[in-house]
Amino acid sequence: MKISTPPQIQMVDLKSQYLPLQDEIESGIKEVIASGAFINGPAVKSFTSNLEEYLQVINVIPCANGTDALQIALMALGLKEGDEVITVPFTFVATAEVIALLKLKVVFVDIDPDTYNMDVDALKKAVSPNTKCIIPVHLYGQIADMENICAIAKENNIPIIEDNAQALGADYYFKNGTQKKSGTIGDIGCTSFYPSKNLGAYGDAGALFTNNDELADKIRCIANHGQRIKYQSDLIGVNSRLDSFQAVVLNAKLKRLDAYSTKRKAAADFYDKIFKDHPKFKIPFRSEFCNHVFHQYTLNYEGDRDNLREGLSEAGIPSMVYYPYPLHLHKAYSYFGNKVGDFPISEAMAKKVISLPMHTELDEEQLNFICETVINIA
Ligand SMILES: *Cc1c(COP(=O)(O)O)cnc(C)c1O
Repeated sequence: MKISTPPQIQMVDLKSQYLPLQDEIESGIKEVIASGAFINGPAVKSFTSNLEEYLQVINVIPCANGTDALQIALMALGLKEGDEVITVPFTFVATAEVIALLKLKVVFVDIDPDTYNMDVDALKKAVSPNTKCIIPVHLYGQIADMENICAIAKENNIPIIEDNAQALGADYYFKNGTQKKSGTIGDIGCTSFYPSKNLGAYGDAGALFTNNDELADKIRCIANHGQRIKYQSDLIGVNSRLDSFQAVVLNAKLKRLDAYSTKRKAAADFYDKIFKDHPKFKIPFRSEFCNHVFHQYTLNYEGDRDNLREGLSEAGIPSMVYYPYPLHLHKAYSYFGNKVGDFPISEAMAKKVISLPMHTELDEEQLNFICETVINIA
C-alpha cells in the first residue's frame, strides 16, 4: 500500500507564488539599492501609473498601509468632531478604528446575510442629517451593492469611501451596461497591499484612488505632512509613504493580478462543487452585479466550528475565522452605545463563518485533501 504524505497546506502560500517572480523582483530590488531612491523613486512612480491604468482611475496615491489609506481618506473629507460615519461591524477593526481616532462617530449598520456586505435597507434607515460619510467594505473579495449605496449617498449628498482592502481587481457591473473596478466607484477608494491581500507587497503598503482631482490633491498633501511645498505645511497631515522595494514587488504582481484572480476563482469553484449540496454548509453567495475575487473562501457552517477547526488543524490544514467578534461588541468601541442583539446578522455570522485556505498556488491534490478532510469531520 502506498502511504501518501498529506500535502503541505497554508492559508496563503507566498513562497510558491514568489518563485516565478524571483528574477524580476530581485533585479528590481538591486536596482533600487544601486539608485539609492528608496522613497518615491522611479519604481513608486511607475507602480502608481500602472495601477491608475489598470483601475482606469485618474489618481492613485500610494501610502504606507491600508489603515492609513482609510484615515487619510477621512481626513481629506474635512469632517469635524462628532460627524457620523456609517459602516458595518462585520469587518477588520481598521475600518472603525480610523473613524474613532479622528473623533468622528461610528454608526454601524448590519450586513446582508448572503453577501456579508452592507445591508442597503439598514443603511437607508441609519442615514441622518449628521451622516457625513459612508464606508462600505467589500468583504472577502466581493463588492458591496454599490449602485444602491451610491443612490442613497447621492440623494443625501454624502461622500463614499470604499474599503477595498479585500477586493482589488474585482469588477462592478452597472445596470446600464458599464463597469468599474472596485475602489473606483465611490468618491475615494482605499486598499491595502498587506502581504496576504490579493495584491500583496512584501511588507506594509497601501493606496487611495479617486477620480476627483481636488480630493487627490488634498490626499497627496495630507500623506506628506500636509505639505504641497517642502517645509511648508498647509494642513495637519501624516507621514505615509510607499517605499520603492514594495513598489518593485507590487509592479511584478500587478501584471499578474487578473491571472491570480482567475486562480482564486478556480479554487473557489472547486470548493463550491464539493460543498454546495452539503446540508451543513452554505457556500459563498455570488452577486450578479460583480465578479468575486475571493480574497477569502468563506463557508457558513451549521455545526461545531471549533471542533471542525481543531480536526482540520490536526490534519495540517489551517483555517481562519474572519471575524469572530463584530466590532460593536469590542470593548474599545462600546462607547458608541451598541449592545448584543443590535446587529443580529453580524453577530450570527461571526459565530458561523469559517475560511478555508485560499491562494493562487492551490492545486487539485491540496484542494481534494482539504475537502475530504472537511467532509469527514463535518
Ligand atoms: C487589511 C484590511 C485593512 C487594513 O489594511 P492594513 O494594510 O493592514 O493597514 C482595512 N480594512 C480591511 C477590510 C482589511 O481587510
